[in-house]
Amino acid sequence: MISKATIDTVFETARVEEVIGDFVQLKRAGSNFKGLSPFSDERSPSFMVSPAKGIWKDFSSGKGGNAVAFLMEHSHFTYPEAIRYLAKKYNIEIEETEQTDAEKATMDARESMYLVSEFAKDYFHKTLLNTEEGKAIGFSYFKERGFTNETIKKFSLGYSPETWDALTKEALGKGYKLEFLESTGLTIPREDRPFDRFKGRVMFPIQSMSGRILGFGGRILTNDKKAAKYLNSPESEIYHKSKVLYGIFQAKQSIAKLNNCFLVEGYTDVIQFNQAGIENVVASSGTALTPDQIRLINRLTRNITVLFDGDAAGLRASIRGIDLILEEGMNVKVCAFPDGEDPDSFAKKTPYDDLVAYLETNAKDFIQFKASLLMDEAKNDPIKKADLIRDMVGSISKIPDRIQREVYIQECSRIMDISEQVLISTLAQLIQKDIAEVAKKQKQEQKPFQVHRNQNPANTGYSGGDPEDPRTGPPEDYPGEPGYSSEPSEKVDVLYRLERKIIEILLLYGDKTEEFEDVLMKTNEDGEIVNVSQMKSYKVFQRIYLSLQEDEVELANPMFRGIFNDLINYYLQNEKFSLEHYLMQLPSEYAQEVTDILMEDERLVMHNWEGQNIFPKTKQETVAQNVSETILTMRWYLVGRIIEELKNSISPDQDNMESLMMIRDYNELTRAFSKKLGRVMSRF
Ligand code: ATP
Ligand code: MN
Repeated sequence: MISKATIDTVFETARVEEVIGDFVQLKRAGSNFKGLSPFSDERSPSFMVSPAKGIWKDFSSGKGGNAVAFLMEHSHFTYPEAIRYLAKKYNIEIEETEQTDAEKATMDARESMYLVSEFAKDYFHKTLLNTEEGKAIGFSYFKERGFTNETIKKFSLGYSPETWDALTKEALGKGYKLEFLESTGLTIPREDRPFDRFKGRVMFPIQSMSGRILGFGGRILTNDKKAAKYLNSPESEIYHKSKVLYGIFQAKQSIAKLNNCFLVEGYTDVIQFNQAGIENVVASSGTALTPDQIRLINRLTRNITVLFDGDAAGLRASIRGIDLILEEGMNVKVCAFPDGEDPDSFAKKTPYDDLVAYLETNAKDFIQFKASLLMDEAKNDPIKKADLIRDMVGSISKIPDRIQREVYIQECSRIMDISEQVLISTLAQLIQKDIAEVAKKQKQEQKPFQVHRNQNPANTGYSGGDPEDPRTGPPEDYPGEPGYSSEPSEKVDVLYRLERKIIEILLLYGDKTEEFEDVLMKTNEDGEIVNVSQMKSYKVFQRIYLSLQEDEVELANPMFRGIFNDLINYYLQNEKFSLEHYLMQLPSEYAQEVTDILMEDERLVMHNWEGQNIFPKTKQETVAQNVSETILTMRWYLVGRIIEELKNSISPDQDNMESLMMIRDYNELTRAFSKKLGRVMSRF
């Protein structure tokens, strides 16, 4: 194993622009270099290298990282291979040590699993294109399905031969370890002769958002009734079925650009749509969407259109899963295909223009769709109709936004011919039940953000109105400043952006020392308790860490939370922050997000090349101001959210005193935040 000292020397010596310059033609662009992306076919450059930051970013594929990451991504080197390559390039002598570290081993294990999966993908693909059996069986099958060569390449489709150990043998011969063939599920262990999981199947590699191979689906080609038509990789260290969407790698740009995502059932639907010219499509692999999958889409768009087969049974089954998407605050449409058609068969025989037109005319708002559909079935059956009302109201109750809920109540009342009043009272019952359940759960867990009634807001670190002051009067309506609107997905967005901002500040200024205002409670000469503010020096990362601790807030986004913890640990353990060194130890799953954030300015410059005159806003405020504002806005936002929840819990037929008091106090706190910020928060 390569010694740490050697690795450090390599990182200190290697210049990112020199390393990449061997593979990509780079031209100077201000303080950066630009070039054509080596990861996609493009005519205008979207590949950026920042020598100052020591990193690169490919804006067309979203990939990015340091010099080592480039070699791993571009030349498919392993980490040690990349280090060895660089050592050779810069004439650095490699010092070897014994490998002992258990942690390093698990990291390497994951990496090895990715590598063997990548190998398997290439092997299956080559087998499909270059062997007699592959061509005769696999390739001709895909042709029959109507897939073009281009499509086969785009999705790296493959074929696993009818031999019991073809892949296993090939991989072992190439030096891949049995251990990783088995942990990825490609090989099924058996003492004497381990054998291939996918035998005689056409292969669909499953890729992550960033294009790494996580697992496979294999479709059998014989009419063997006993064998499953589709076989998938088992869950593993790198493949978590519930967190993956088939096609997301090919779809992500199109989803973001078109601000909509089509959801289909499986592999061939995704592929057929792509071939038809519609790229913003993903599949959840045969099951209902999981919250993790929804969040994956939510990062790219808040609009989702679920596509159904033509048969009614499947349709009813799928409808049940959709409440989950509503719960995440997304806008859901549904579109059914003609009887007997699925997205695959329909896209295959329909020209692009007609397909687009069909989707446009037939995509219906989910709630309306469900109401009409069920109404047809329940029309003359009062018992069914009662069930239907509960069912519909159940869906509506999942929508986080109150106004939107009201609109749907009106719609349903019309479609189902039932008074709004009945629907509203059913809704109130359901929501109250939900809130009671949530409250119960929260009691058990720790609350993410707690501000108690009767608690002086000074101990949030900021002075403000006094909730005990009788002059503050009766509870008012929440003022509803812009910035936290009642729209659910904007909420996701605001929090997302705030959390991202926190990471950005940590990355850029974490170890800077700045003066911050502390508000303390003191007793004055008259013995009264007063708030006194005083300036104190903090490292930026300490300030942020302490503020979040104080509020008992954790970042909600798992990716940001991971990066946050990693960064804080880094700052705590290292005297000095070196971006290069930090990126070197950064777990690979965070690298993309981190380089995204670091290259934000470059992205703006990039767009500017086309001649538009958009320059990044110059940051005129000090780092300390920036930190305080971000934290404060986050507090303000979270308190706003609590107020909104409380308001939604109020109903005319109960004693709401407790809730009203709490709303009043939280409102006071919000006003204090607003005052402190000295402006309406329109920036977020
Ligand atoms: P057929 O040629 O008989 O229609 P198919 O390969 O199209 O077979 P279907 O049974 O029609 O498969 O399946 C519908 C969709 O679901 C297809 O897109 C298929 O690829 C996909 N699919 C089926 N099983 C799975 C699975 N286990 N994981 C992911 N996708 C699946
Ligand atoms: Mn089919």
